[in-house]
Amino acid sequence: MSYLVLARKSRPQNFAQVVGQQHIVRTLRNALLRSRVPHALIFSGVRGTGKTTLARIMAKALNCESGQPPEPCCQCRSCKEIAAGNSVDLHEIDGASNRGIQEIRELKENIRFMPVMSRFKIIIIDEVHMLTTEAFNALLKTLEEPPSHVYFMFATTELHKVPVTILSRCQRYELKRVASSELAAHFARLADSEGITMEPAALNMVVRASGGSVRDGLSLLDQLFSYCGEQVSAQDAAEVLGMVGGEVIAGTAQALLAGDLAAALDRLETVTSSGMDIKRFINELLAWFRNLVVCKISKEPAQLLDLPADELAVLQETAAAHSPQSLFLLFNLLMDSLEKAAWSSRPRFAVEMAFIRAVQAEDIVPVTELLGRLDSILAGTPLPQAAAPLYEKKKTVIAEVKPPEPAPLRTAEPPPSPPMPDEPPHPADEQEPPPVRQERIPEKRDIRKDWPEFIKAVKKPWIASALERAASPELENGKLILTYHDSADCSTLKIKEQLAELTALAADFFQESLRIVFNEPSVCTVEGKNSGADAVRMERQSLANDPVVLMAAEIFNGQVRDIRIGPQFRKLLSAEQETAGGEDEA
Ligand SMILES: [Zn+2]
Repeated sequence: MSYLVLARKSRPQNFAQVVGQQHIVRTLRNALLRSRVPHALIFSGVRGTGKTTLARIMAKALNCESGQPPEPCCQCRSCKEIAAGNSVDLHEIDGASNRGIQEIRELKENIRFMPVMSRFKIIIIDEVHMLTTEAFNALLKTLEEPPSHVYFMFATTELHKVPVTILSRCQRYELKRVASSELAAHFARLADSEGITMEPAALNMVVRASGGSVRDGLSLLDQLFSYCGEQVSAQDAAEVLGMVGGEVIAGTAQALLAGDLAAALDRLETVTSSGMDIKRFINELLAWFRNLVVCKISKEPAQLLDLPADELAVLQETAAAHSPQSLFLLFNLLMDSLEKAAWSSRPRFAVEMAFIRAVQAEDIVPVTELLGRLDSILAGTPLPQAAAPLYEKKKTVIAEVKPPEPAPLRTAEPPPSPPMPDEPPHPADEQEPPPVRQERIPEKRDIRKDWPEFIKAVKKPWIASALERAASPELENGKLILTYHDSADCSTLKIKEQLAELTALAADFFQESLRIVFNEPSVCTVEGKNSGADAVRMERQSLANDPVVLMAAEIFNGQVRDIRIGPQFRKLLSAEQETAGGEDEA
């Protein structure tokens, strides 16, 4: 005995057997009862939802000889011939392979004749969107005024590809994906009639994998039944379908929500070792988070989510335990990184990375909150409450995180000492160093004592070394006076950027806004006691040792041959009547 696939064996023979699509079944029945069936119908929807099945049932009903509409009797000659596929008055055309104008011309020729055995000629064109423009045009005239003995039934998965001129002449029926509960019931009945026991988890997997298509689900059942025999366990189903149980997906998601990276990676290992396609896993995990978000924001998620009751219960429970913000954040983050993982050449690594990011998201503070904190600091007002924890399960950990103390701004005055009324006076302690708590309050530093410390605090070595060469630094009326015996030693510091940096560092360290003044004998006293020639010599030396000059010489792999002297010094020179070779051309 030859094996008949489930899809054919279980094909509905009348309206009562149709799975789902009840809105359409009802309309068609009513039209049949009132003899108001339009002469052209078009059924659209995803594959395997029953488009051609409905067209055939309509054909049966229209030609049924029992005379008891709307259900076809399935007993009369016409019904039997249609079911067996050998009715002379039913023409089934595959639009994909008969798409040209020639086929449509032949069809038009054919329908000019009256039906041979039945009341009506029925023309079913499957995948009608595949017809060529010419073929559609040839059909138009016939559809406009169809002969009373002809009915057209079109089926398409891509309604948008059917010309509007055709659509406007047809009555449209849009088939929906079949709901999970209806599919589950249908598949359970079939398994039962085949004498096969299925674990509920296995049944759920088939429903999930079928994606709302009856035919897809049936072909998966065929695979399962021939692999497993009379018992179908969840493990068998997972192996055959390349899927994991819903609890693995839920477990992974919950581990991520709990910030438990180890558990999430453990689940991922289960998934990969069970041979599940990682892209499928990614899709299912994303779908799970999407459903979770829907559960959180919708009052009646059951209406929006087509899920088995137990899965819905788990989702609702999980949604209740987390704040909407944390769910949105995690969903958004996973959406981004898992989408990328699906296209990665190493999807598993990418999924692991996505998990790490998801778990770290716990530490992420929204920008708006950071700005709020900054505002509070600037305004000197007390900080608002710390951020609501993203993961409630870790509340204790997050509650310990204190808001940051307002740090003193660089140029701000030192804040007043906090009053300490509870502390008894310690007269004996007067010479002691101040208590530890007071160390946080910046005190006025002593320039001489703290100078080495300041140099140590300077991170840039060339600034530090230039500072080390300064003799007896002094603070005076908001000025930091640095004395150099050789102006070459401080030339680095006089570069605008370095000076700015040094000023900032000094302000930070000494808690005082300071102007930096260089005391260089050679230059400061140029017009004083030192001779002009001396000044020129020192200026030259300083220029020759200038790091910028040295760097330039190094970059260009050259050496300093000549130093031209500006007008200020030229005047001095002429007064001294000295000769200076430097004025020659290089
Ligand atoms: Zn019949």
